[in-house]
Amino acid sequence: MSLRILRGTIVSAPALGELDALEDGFLVAEDGVIQGVYETLPPQYAAAEVEDWSGHLILQSFSDMHLHAPQYPMLGMGLDMPLMDWLVAYPFPLEAKYTDTDFARRVYSKLAKDLVERGTTRVCIFSSLHRESTLVLMEELEKAGIIGYAGKVNMDRSMVDYLSETTEESKRETLQWLEDSKRFTNIRPMITPRFTPSCTDELMYFLGDLVKKYDLPVQSHLSENDAEIETVLALCPDCEHYWESYAKRGLWTDRTLMAHCVWSNEQERRAMKDHGVTVVHCGDSNWDLCSGTAPVRDMLNEGVKVCLGSDCAGGDNIDMFHSVVAAIRASKVRHLMDNKQTAFLTVAEAWYLAVSAPNEFFGEKPGFAPGNRLGAMILADDEELAPYPLDAKKRLERAVYRRQKNCIRAVYSGEKKIFAAE
Ligand SMILES: [Zn+2]
Repeated sequence: MSLRILRGTIVSAPALGELDALEDGFLVAEDGVIQGVYETLPPQYAAAEVEDWSGHLILQSFSDMHLHAPQYPMLGMGLDMPLMDWLVAYPFPLEAKYTDTDFARRVYSKLAKDLVERGTTRVCIFSSLHRESTLVLMEELEKAGIIGYAGKVNMDRSMVDYLSETTEESKRETLQWLEDSKRFTNIRPMITPRFTPSCTDELMYFLGDLVKKYDLPVQSHLSENDAEIETVLALCPDCEHYWESYAKRGLWTDRTLMAHCVWSNEQERRAMKDHGVTVVHCGDSNWDLCSGTAPVRDMLNEGVKVCLGSDCAGGDNIDMFHSVVAAIRASKVRHLMDNKQTAFLTVAEAWYLAVSAPNEFFGEKPGFAPGNRLGAMILADDEELAPYPLDAKKRLERAVYRRQKNCIRAVYSGEKKIFAAE
């Protein structure tokens, strides 16, 4: 059995808006599974080695629930364009390069390292349409100690001829990719239609059948931008609302992630709640591409599940500290636009969405709950520079907003320490 005991100031998010803080505590994991958080070390561990992080914060690591791996080299590029024009001008030409698996290897190894160093240990991630490069992505993530899901993108109705697949190719490559993916333990396949405009009905129905047959999770985009929504309604005469283009084809389940949902009205939000679909809110991206500001408070009030994503590269970085701050600021914009009727997100609430809300998707409980896989990061938050002594919750608040350089000292995922700062 492997034993890991971390000592320090432990802060976790057990419920929306709540933080549990223990000033000098012990976090214990056996074989990569959390046993508990303790004020004093239980006697059975008395002789065990303790990693002493006294003075540091021990926090839950991040789950980035929406990002595009192939777009990593173009972070911050072309963000003065609206979604549909931007896709054709920037991501599509870059994604076409992933026919080259050496190029994919170079990008994805760097991306995996960068994610880990920023405290992200779990992802739901888009690849490109290329099967071989998707396998490279899965390999590199798994090697780095990241867990979660990755998806070969399906797009048989492309806007450009140099990045497209026929319906038959898309079906065949997806089946082969599912077969090839069996060799991975910690990164599992996720069905990934790019979005309704990129996929024919025939392909969507085929993917829906796979979801049912193999009990697979789904990720895609929903109601991000006005031109996108108009396109979907024109392409799908059988659908009155965008969400139905997924629901009617078997892609709308309690294991479905939908990124953005900026313009989801009450009816669409009700459909998400009723079917257990999870919204992935990407505040940075929604502003970068001038898509809008998602009604996250309404979603939470209505019982819709919400997580956060960096949306590399509609989002301009992969640092989830930024995504937390973006979520807070987006909610403040809604607050101001609603004549202050809608409450904005507190730091504790946005933090919960980044570190605990995703746990349900992975079959776990919020916080550092016993039975959860260990996902933790150690933060050096410059305590000596505080204006006066701060309690643990204030320290977390300050760390979220400061996004201080090189503050993460170590990252743990399961049994492994996957990052240690020099
Ligand atoms: Zn996206």
